[in-house]
Amino acid sequence: MMKGAVPSILGAIGHTPIVKLERVANDVAANVYVKCEFMNPAGSMKDRMVMNMIESAEKRGELKPGGTIIEATSGNTGAAIAMIAAVKGYKCIFVMPDKMSQEKILSLRAWGAKVVVCPTAVEPEDPRSYYSVAKRLAQETPNSFYANQYHNQDNPGGHYRSTGPEIWEQTGGEVDVLVAGLGTGGTITGTGKFLKEKKPTTQIVGVDPVGSLYYDYVKSGRVTQPFTYKVEGIGEDFFPSTIDLSILDEIIRVDDKECFLMTRDLVRLEGLYVGGSCGAAVAGALKYARQTQKKENILVILPDAASKYLSKIFNDDWMRENGFLGESKLGVVGDLLK
Ligand code: PMP
Repeated sequence: MMKGAVPSILGAIGHTPIVKLERVANDVAANVYVKCEFMNPAGSMKDRMVMNMIESAEKRGELKPGGTIIEATSGNTGAAIAMIAAVKGYKCIFVMPDKMSQEKILSLRAWGAKVVVCPTAVEPEDPRSYYSVAKRLAQETPNSFYANQYHNQDNPGGHYRSTGPEIWEQTGGEVDVLVAGLGTGGTITGTGKFLKEKKPTTQIVGVDPVGSLYYDYVKSGRVTQPFTYKVEGIGEDFFPSTIDLSILDEIIRVDDKECFLMTRDLVRLEGLYVGGSCGAAVAGALKYARQTQKKENILVILPDAASKYLSKIFNDDWMRENGFLGESKLGVVGDLLK
């Protein structure tokens, strides 16, 4: 092996930089840093946990050479599975609802994956729903492995083994507060557990969009009626078994507009080419910093990149139609093209 090379692209997962925010966070006492997980090879922090799900399944003998990986996903987990399967020689089948963009379907196919599209407008229990179809395919396909990220403990386990130790080593244990958006909860549960074990005073802060179940449940124990929102990748309408809400010291709620204006600011003011859940996490971190007013080190996880959201968050027409244009650090967020 030549000096400086890795044996495959899988060796390039992780080792992401931590960057200090300057202009976006200049009005809080805390130092706010971001971990650039959007720089992973398949485009998000999911690369780490999917590596752990696949390698753990291999070790347990659940995934054998030439096997097929099945998952109900359209997003970053799909990309990570497709990339790793390409390198390791597995086949993969993704099942997704028909509301998903052509771009996402085509990118998974580019990696050699098979994509099955199902109707969106049916209940999860309906045999035509993408959950049901994924389960059925997993049962019917010989030598297949159902990744099941919402209920696979190797999802938080991946962050416990990879994201947590990397942050600890990179920062020499100087992180006081970890902030991350809540989806499956894998990121916050795994990373948070590792950092708290190393330094029990570390504060773990989750960020949840308006419309998701988590915030009300953590604050008051109530399970409220979920409703839709636009920010992708965070918030849930059910409780996955991969999230351990007891790890949270605080939960912060954000709305779509503040997520998207912050996302634009991160790109334009900090040069960070990031997606909507990154804006959500930073907006949440800044609210937390204003609440505590402490001079401390806050580290925010930035999951994925702007490229998947160009026709939405970075499209003025879409932003205006949804009523999301408005005041931000830049003043009035005007037309990007001018
Ligand atoms: N942001 C994006 C863009 C995601 O795809 C996800 C995963 N659903 C998250 C944030 C949340 O991460 P986790 O599932 O680990 O809670």
